[in-house]
Amino acid sequence: MSDRYALIGNPVAHSKSPSIHAEFARATGQDLEYGLVEAPLDGFAATVERFRAGGGKGLNVTLPFKQEAFRLCARVSERARHAQAVKTLVLETGFGDNTDGIGLVRDLSQNLNYRFRTVLLLGAGGAAQGVVGALLEAGATKVVIANRTVSRAEELAQRFPGVSACSYESLPEEAFDLIVNATSAGLGDETPPVPSSFLSSKVLAYDMVYGRETPFLAAARRAGARTSDGLGMLVEQAAEAFFVWRGVRPETRPVLAKLRGS
Ligand code: NAP
Repeated sequence: MSDRYALIGNPVAHSKSPSIHAEFARATGQDLEYGLVEAPLDGFAATVERFRAGGGKGLNVTLPFKQEAFRLCARVSERARHAQAVKTLVLETGFGDNTDGIGLVRDLSQNLNYRFRTVLLLGAGGAAQGVVGALLEAGATKVVIANRTVSRAEELAQRFPGVSACSYESLPEEAFDLIVNATSAGLGDETPPVPSSFLSSKVLAYDMVYGRETPFLAAARRAGARTSDGLGMLVEQAAEAFFVWRGVRPETRPVLAKLRGS
């Protein structure tokens, strides 16, 4: 029987993860299947245990369970501890990891070939929490976190020396190399209120939402900024999870190209 993995969340039906992992498995000759598990909102731990008891080897965790997964783990990686959220579970050992940050950084450096020093991070939810440490490790000299609920940005910033927090009304009047939209605003066709003066041809505007041009990306494109959605991050974080589980690093470019239909 193939080794079993899955994405667990609520909802999960929309996910591209099964097709990404199926491509990775085919390309690397790994015998595994990857499915979807929708857990009831009050039944995450029990659903994980049922999957494990049925022979499941590993899980990717998505909304709204990443923080609960962190609390469930016997042992976590440094990057999961910084994020206080777990995205990849190894069920045999109870180990938890967070692969969002490395996913974003690899997309920026390897797929988009973009070098940056200063970063404005919009949002302070699970996705933002997962990427601050990786942005700093990748060489960011300045990271400012802006969020609608400022207290969440402040709580996140204080975990990292030198990182600061602000509201959208009090954004510092300076240019950033990279603006990452880690809010879910784009899912509802909304945008965090970033003044157009921040969006110039010297900026990469990156939206973690994928598969559509969000209002944030549309405004950035109109202002002459380079833009990217979050599909590359999705594929890169999946590749890192695959490596954590199987010890094999799949090639991401062909999978990304296939998903983009190019
Ligand atoms: P989350 O924990 O629910 O956090 C949502 C964030 O968005 C919070 O900071 C929230 O601000 C902000 N927000 C929501 N609506 C807003 C609006 N209308 N205006 C301004 N801010 C708004 O969600 P998450 O897990 O961080 O995920 C965020 C997004 O990233 C989702 O769209 C998700 O699909 C995407 N994502 C993509 C990848 C990838 O691989 N590409 C990976 C992870 C996540 P408040 O704190 O004020 O509520």
